[in-house]
Formats: sequence, C-alpha cells, structure tokens
Amino acid sequence: MASYICFECGRKVSETDVRRRIRCPYCGSKIIVKERVTPTKMKAR
Ligand SMILES: [Zn+2]
Repeated sequence: MASYICFECGRKVSETDVRRRIRCPYCGSKIIVKERVTPTKMKAR
C-alpha cells in the first residue's frame, strides 16, 4: 500500500484521491510525493 504526501501542505493524501485527481484535496497542490512506506531496517552482519 503506497501513501502519498502533499509537497505543499505536507498532509497525507490517499492513493485513491491521487488516482481520481492528481491534486491535493486540502490545498489543491499538484505536487504530490510518494511516501516511503515503513523503511526496512536491515542489520548489517
Ligand atoms: Zn496540500
């Protein structure tokens, strides 16, 4: 599951909202960036 973050206001935008309209539903910004979902921590051996 990918989540997105508005570049302007920094709010989370759901993937369905992004698919409907590539715009932030809060501020109307067109710049939406993909959020890194749960960064995997790997232990170096
Ligand atoms: Zn926004």
